[in-house]
Amino acid sequence: MNTPAIPHILILGGTADARALASLIHRKFRDGIRLTTSLAGRTKSPAGLAGVVRTGGFGGVPGLIEYVRAEDVSALIDATHPFAANISAHAHDVAEKTGIARLMIKRPRWPLPEALDVRRVTDMAAAAQQLAKTTSQRVLLTTGTQNLEAFADIPDTWFLVRQIENHEASLPMSNADTVIQKPPFTLESEKALMIEYAVDTLVTKESGGRATEAKLAAAAELGIRTVMIERPEMPAGDHVSSPEEALVWLQGCLGLNT
Ligand code: NAP
Repeated sequence: MNTPAIPHILILGGTADARALASLIHRKFRDGIRLTTSLAGRTKSPAGLAGVVRTGGFGGVPGLIEYVRAEDVSALIDATHPFAANISAHAHDVAEKTGIARLMIKRPRWPLPEALDVRRVTDMAAAAQQLAKTTSQRVLLTTGTQNLEAFADIPDTWFLVRQIENHEASLPMSNADTVIQKPPFTLESEKALMIEYAVDTLVTKESGGRATEAKLAAAAELGIRTVMIERPEMPAGDHVSSPEEALVWLQGCLGLNT
């Protein structure tokens, strides 16, 4: 008699939610499942993860299809960042083409403080246009280090670019400094940063998540205007808002006994 194969769960990661989910799955099922988290490879020293870690792009939709077939993946959990739109679209297409079960973890949006002076924009270029239209002179950029070229040609504006780790790449803006800080951030630490650098404007993606939420309360308290880049549209499909809910979905989906 053939022994049934152990289910193989693939988490598309790069977020705290993905790490928390890997840990929950590992604690619950131990050797009863195979668990792999996939990272894009942007972070030089990613935090430890339960299960196996694979790193680097798959090579678009065809590459991801090849991977899930070769590795006999039973379910795919897209726990990537809300702004990682390409890999989420690929996961959607792969599920459509292969019939593999797929779930997205969609981080809840931040509740905005009532006093926050916030302008919503659709992308980095629109955020740069917004800055050029205002009296912003000292800008805290918390959008990560990708696509900063949009801010390269804004005259009379100084930028403080917050990075999680030192990328050692030169910034496209001529008038900019870098600060390296890892979340979670507190209201006090965010206010201290904004006061120390005399920040008058905050630029942020609408990422959501508790670890980076304090900047909004700090900006509201200090009267710092905020330019908020809205999330890209996510593909259709099953979604939950937390790793705990994803674990419940997984148990139902694979009929796993606890
Ligand atoms: P993206 O634009 O959606 O993806 C670009 C390409 O990177 C994808 O086509 C894929 O390459 C590869 N890729 C992305 N995520 C991957 C993963 N988890 N495993 C394997 N390959 C992956 O993604 P991004 O915005 O550059 O983000 C990259 C990673 O950083 C994601 O894991 C995301 O969760 C994390 N992250 C992103 C942000 C953000 O603001 N965008 C913030 C924090 C963390 P192939 O087409 O070759 O498969």
